Amino acid sequence: MTVAERIRQTIRTIPDFPKEGIQFKDITPILQDPILSKDIVDEFVKLLDGKVDAIAGIESRGFLFGFSLAMQLGVPFILIRKKGKLPYETISHKYDLEYGTAEIEMHTDSVNEGMRIHIHDDLLATGGTAIAASELIKKQGGKIAGYSFLVELAFLKGAEKLNTYSNQTASLVKY
Ligand code: AMP
Repeated sequence: MTVAERIRQTIRTIPDFPKEGIQFKDITPILQDPILSKDIVDEFVKLLDGKVDAIAGIESRGFLFGFSLAMQLGVPFILIRKKGKLPYETISHKYDLEYGTAEIEMHTDSVNEGMRIHIHDDLLATGGTAIAASELIKKQGGKIAGYSFLVELAFLKGAEKLNTYSNQTASLVKY
């Protein structure tokens, strides 16, 4: 079985979580399988095209495989978090949600001018979160090297929106 097939078999879909109409893709069963987890990191390493200077993971499930991926590639890991969680000096970016706004932050010393940053999260839905992370990195002078996700909800066409920043989007499983 391929890694993609094993992910499909292992992910749990929870209907109507956190609200009605959402089919929530729960990746926690993958974390209970260390062999599959390691194979997923290896798969991302294979798919990453070109050189990257750092991996940025989006809170919180983007930290799980993002940090392992950074270690495997031998590059720094950057935490992109919701406002108010990071202790040092931060740079932030506000963006619109379906209802209201959200704000994300990273430490000011995590990105230097011209660094090629690869953005990682567990799942790509509308692309709003990944775009906000991209804008935040660009504010600090970073370049977007590409994106990776375990799961892409392809029917929401988020990857098309990410093309504005980079056409290197790797998703292991698409629904
Ligand atoms: P979006 O900004 O619409 O691309 O949403 C992506 C973010 O929301 C990621 O950080 C995901 O973890 C989370 N997310 C959105 N939809 C789902 C879903 N159906 N199942 C699990 N996580 C989701």
